[in-house]
Amino acid sequence: MIALVVAVGILLTPISDLYVLVLVVGVLVFFGAMSLWMGAQFFLNSIPRTSAGNVLLSFDDGPDPVNTPLVLDILKKHNVTALFFLIGKKVKGNEALISRIHEEGHLLGSHSFSHAPTMGFWNRERTTTDIAEGHAELLKIIPQAGNLYRPPFGVTNPAIAYAIKKCGLRSVGWTVRSFDTIRKEPAKMLNSLKRSVKGSDIVLMHDTQPHTLSILDPLIVELKKRKLTLKAELN
Ligand SMILES: [Zn+2]
Repeated sequence: MIALVVAVGILLTPISDLYVLVLVVGVLVFFGAMSLWMGAQFFLNSIPRTSAGNVLLSFDDGPDPVNTPLVLDILKKHNVTALFFLIGKKVKGNEALISRIHEEGHLLGSHSFSHAPTMGFWNRERTTTDIAEGHAELLKIIPQAGNLYRPPFGVTNPAIAYAIKKCGLRSVGWTVRSFDTIRKEPAKMLNSLKRSVKGSDIVLMHDTQPHTLSILDPLIVELKKRKLTLKAELN
């Protein structure tokens, strides 16, 4: 009898280990997925949409001294306002361009100081310093810029949630991605956006990408044709 119990115990031990392993991997995968999926609003609440009948174009990773002025020219031509999330370390040297973004009626927010790909692994203190410094750079040029922030790569976690709260910022998400940092074929990108964008969407684009410029004009024309407004306002 004892031998039988020992034998069953030995047989069950590796299974139990396996269960623990599966459980641990499952938990890690779940939190990893939640960390990358900002729209899930798991670690922090982000403003998810603009008003009904409106489409908000948002541009991350600028200012770019070459591309941003061209984006601004297209927006101005169509009397459209958008939202620009600036990387703090790019502010210095682009002060006049940032003032132009503001003067032409667009909203501005910050997008961290460093935009480091490893930011999701930092502790609360380092994360808070980077986010605070990024926003301070923006406020140096536009003191009335407000408190909008977008997490780089859409990565969120408890440290990032803590830092955003500590800095008094409001996180802004998106509902449609242009994938313009990955897709390099403007025609496909434009078709995909035409198919997916609808009223109240916030569209994520990058004013650092030359091919984004080539689709911006036809995208705006198409959305206006559908009687959608394109204004820098949040819900
Ligand atoms: Zn970014």
